[in-house]
Amino acid sequence: MTTTMTGRAPSALEATPAEIAAKAAAARRAAAVWRRATIKQRVTALRAVWKALAARREEIRAVVHEETGKPLVEVDLMELGAAGLLVDWMTSVAPRVLGDKAASKPWSLFNKRAYERRVPRGVIGLITPWNMPFLIPFGDAFAAMLAGNAVLLKPSEWTTKTALWLEHAVAATSLLPEGLLSVVPGGGAAGEAVIDATDMIVFTGSTKTGRCVAVRAAGQLKPSVLELGGKHPMIVLADASLERAASAATWAACSNAGQVCVGVERVFVEAEVYERFVELIRPKVAALRQKLDGVDADLGRMVFPPLLDRITEQLEDARKKGARVIGGEVLDRENLMIAPALVLDARMDMKIMTEESFGPVIPIMKVARAEEAVALANAGSEGLAASVWTTDLAKGEALAAALEVGLVGVNEPASHYAFGSLPFGGMKQSGMGRRHGEEGLLAFTQSQSVLVHEWPASAPDLWWFPYNEKKAGFLRKLMGLP
Ligand code: NAD
Repeated sequence: MTTTMTGRAPSALEATPAEIAAKAAAARRAAAVWRRATIKQRVTALRAVWKALAARREEIRAVVHEETGKPLVEVDLMELGAAGLLVDWMTSVAPRVLGDKAASKPWSLFNKRAYERRVPRGVIGLITPWNMPFLIPFGDAFAAMLAGNAVLLKPSEWTTKTALWLEHAVAATSLLPEGLLSVVPGGGAAGEAVIDATDMIVFTGSTKTGRCVAVRAAGQLKPSVLELGGKHPMIVLADASLERAASAATWAACSNAGQVCVGVERVFVEAEVYERFVELIRPKVAALRQKLDGVDADLGRMVFPPLLDRITEQLEDARKKGARVIGGEVLDRENLMIAPALVLDARMDMKIMTEESFGPVIPIMKVARAEEAVALANAGSEGLAASVWTTDLAKGEALAAALEVGLVGVNEPASHYAFGSLPFGGMKQSGMGRRHGEEGLLAFTQSQSVLVHEWPASAPDLWWFPYNEKKAGFLRKLMGLP
C-alpha cells in the first residue's frame, strides 16, 4: 500500500531504552506498594481518580479532538461516557470478583480450610491504537490497577498527547502510588520494549501487529490478550424494521468516521427488501454533516493517513468489479477528509467485502437468504462483531448463535463496550482472551490456591510416614476405595 504524505504526522516522541527501564522500575516499585492495598481501598482510590479526571472533561475533549478530529458528541459518548459506565460496573463488582473465594473440600479433609486468592500479575503492558485514544487505554489501565497491578502504557504514536494527558492527570490526583500508571511514547520498538519489561500484555490493534506481539510475548512465556481487527457483517432479514436497520448501518459504519473495530463493515440484505433498504439508507448517508471543527458534526476526519489510500483502493476495486459507488471522494487530503461511501451491488470478490476498511464505507450485498450471509461471514478469518436484523427475535437469536464472532447483536449494532459486564473480544483471528466481564478483570490476576491446616495443632497428618498395611487399610476406607 502506498502512503501519500499529508500535513499530519505521528508524534516524534520516542522513549529511550534507559527511560523505559526507569519507568518499568518505578512501576515495579509502585506495584509492590499497591498490591498490599485492600480491594476496598483500591476501589475508593480509583473512583476518586475517575471523579477527578471527569471533572477535567473539557481538557479531554480538547486533546482527543485535536488528535483525532472526532465530533465532540462522540468524545462525550464514546470516550468519556463509556469510560464512566465501565468504572461504575468494575468498581461495583471488584470486591466480589477479586475477593478470596472459599473452596469446597473433601469431607475427609474437614480439618483444613481451602480458598482461592487472586494475586495481581505485577506490571501490565498496554499497547493501544489511535481510534479510541482515551477510552481504550483508560478502561484497560483502570481494570489492571483495580486488580492490583501497575501499568506501562504504550499508546499509538498518533495519539500520544491524549495518553500523556492521562498520565499527568492521574499523577496530579496524588491518589495512587507514584509511577503506578506510566506512559512510554514511541512506535513499534517502544512496544517491543514494553512487552519485554512487563508481566502481561494487553494489545489492541491490527491483526498483523497482534501476531508479532503474541509471538514475542509467548517467547517469554508471558500471557497476552489480543483485541484485533474485524469485519462486522450486518445481516438484514426481509422482516426487519428497515428504517431502524438503515439508521443503524449509517451510524455503525460512519461513527468515528468508520474507525471502530466493531463498526459495521458490510451489509447483507435479503433480496426481497434490498432495493427498499438502499432507498432508505441513501438519504441518511447523504445527510451526514462532515466537519473538522467537531461542533454540530456527524463525521470528522480519518486519523491515520494510510487509511485514505486503503479506502480509495477498495472503492476503486469495487467500482472496477461492477459495484455502484456513491460518495467516497477524498475531500481534503491534507486534513484526511473522505466522504462517506455507499457501495451498492457489492459482491464477495470485492476487497471491500473481505478486507477491513476502517473508514466510513457501507458496502451492501444482496443475498437470497440470511443463512447464506451467515455462511459467507463464517468463511472469513475474522470473528469480532456481527449483527442480525429481524422482528422475529427468536430467529435472530438463533442466527446470532451460528455466527463465529465474540460480539453479536440482534437489532443492535455495536454497543457492547458500554456493558462492562459483557466480555469483549473476538474469535478466530480477531483476538485471544477478553477484556471486560468478570473474566476480563480476573485476567489481570493469577489464582493462588491457599490451604490452611486448622487443627490439631501439633499432630502429624494420618497419611504421613511411617506407612504400614493397617494404615493403608484405614486410608482406603476413608477415601472410599474398594
Ligand atoms: P496497529 O497494529 O498499527 O498499532 C497498534 C499499536 O501497536 C500501536 O501502539 C503501535 O505503535 C504498536 N506497535 C506497532 N508495531 C509493534 C510491534 N512490533 N510490537 C509492539 N507494538 C507495536 O493498529 P492501529 O492502526 O493503531 O489500530 C487499528 C486497528 O486496531 C484496527 O485493525 C482495529 O480493528 C483494531 N482495533 C481493535 C479493537 C478491539 O477491541 N478488537 C479496538 C480498537 C481497534
